[in-house]
Amino acid sequence: MTTDAVWDVVVAGAGLPGLAFAAAAAQAGLSVAIADAAPIGVAADDDTGFDLRVFAVSPGSAEFLRSIGAWQRLAGDRMAPIEAMDVRADRGARLEFSAYELGERALAWVVEERALRNALAAAALEAGVEPFGGAPFVGLQFAADRAVLALAGHTLAGRLLVAADGVRSWVRQAAGILTPPRPYGQQGVVAHFACERAHHGTARQWFRSDGSVLAWLPLPERQMSMVWSAPDGLAAELLALEPQALAQRVADAGGHALGALQSISASAGFPLALLRLATTVGHRLALVGDAAHGVHPLAGQGVNLGFGDARALAEALSARGPLTDPGAALTLGRYARRRTEPVFAMQAVTDGLVRLFGLRQPGIALLRNVGMAAVDRFAPLKRALAQPALR
Ligand SMILES: Cc1cc2nc3c(=O)[nH]c(=O)nc-3n(C[C@H](O)[C@H](O)[C@H](O)COP(=O)(O)OP(=O)(O)OC[C@H]3O[C@@H](n4cnc5c(N)ncnc54)[C@H](O)[C@@H]3O)c2cc1C
Repeated sequence: MTTDAVWDVVVAGAGLPGLAFAAAAAQAGLSVAIADAAPIGVAADDDTGFDLRVFAVSPGSAEFLRSIGAWQRLAGDRMAPIEAMDVRADRGARLEFSAYELGERALAWVVEERALRNALAAAALEAGVEPFGGAPFVGLQFAADRAVLALAGHTLAGRLLVAADGVRSWVRQAAGILTPPRPYGQQGVVAHFACERAHHGTARQWFRSDGSVLAWLPLPERQMSMVWSAPDGLAAELLALEPQALAQRVADAGGHALGALQSISASAGFPLALLRLATTVGHRLALVGDAAHGVHPLAGQGVNLGFGDARALAEALSARGPLTDPGAALTLGRYARRRTEPVFAMQAVTDGLVRLFGLRQPGIALLRNVGMAAVDRFAPLKRALAQPALR
């Protein structure tokens, strides 16, 4: 197909949800082009240690990724199952989950972004998706029967344009959806460490009295990945530390739960923001991934919500009649309705927890702790709380 033809779908943004949607849509028989400012393809695996970006992929996402032929491409020895979670707050409050009690093989799998991106790009290209990498978006127009995305050097016309270009989506703004992300005034500080003691597949999380949330995710062997969601001041302090001083600080903050820590990576900070939109569809437009919603990473669910979008949109498109226009408002409405509840539920939980644990009023800490202890003792409620994260 030439670049002046009209594609069924043009995907703007080749992050993980964009690639997953493109693969699923092409496998359902749609003609799909995907564009990104970065190159798109399967990068050589230079095996330089663990990618700094890792994701906790839920069982529901893993099943979707398997259905589009991406999960099978991941190397088993580079991912780690989360078999249990140990969540703590100040004054000794504690909540524990295990995959066993929820009837799952794992609560999630910790997977590197680079590996996921390669697996998804391979699945998409194999399904016939046409890549336009290295091409920033420079213009957008909508006509009655198409959307036209201008790249440096090409134009791509599609019956449907899927915006998958992240929380500060250029496409969303160019399409006139102007709601900005609301910064939390926090950064997610990430780094990897080798641990003195085995983690036994347990992810650990601390809601700290300074309003930050520290999470340790298991990596293969005696290694772990940290996400410390910290107010901007604390984040700047952590990012300025020498690697071994950071390791010491992180070990102290986690009460030496895994013994001494050794730095095995650089550290990096990602600004955190909440994005809630009144609608995730428009004329010949659907938003997926962080372009559609920003959530706090304390539940590790951002990319899982994005995979949920990718799956729901591809299913809505393949369920439409063979002669129905892929950009038909009815199909897009079905997609938007299907995603409203899961996205709203996840935002309510994560944003609610950030606010609750950020409160400093006397008495609140006690209430929080009584609440956590009650949930911990009541298995059906615990299962209900965990379900959205397993999807
Ligand atoms: C610290 C931290 C930890 C996290 N941990 C987890 C976790 O454990 N589990 C989980 O599920 N989620 C996690 N998340 C969330 C997850 O990172 C995001 O939800 C996910 O990466 C969003 O993917 P996306 O493709 O929508 O956006 P992005 O990853 O931002 O991708 C957008 C793509 O669009 C392209 N693009 C953007 N603008 C343009 C333009 N103008 N022109 C051309 N191309 C453009 C970019 O190059 C990029 O490829 C975490 C987030 C943070 C900050």
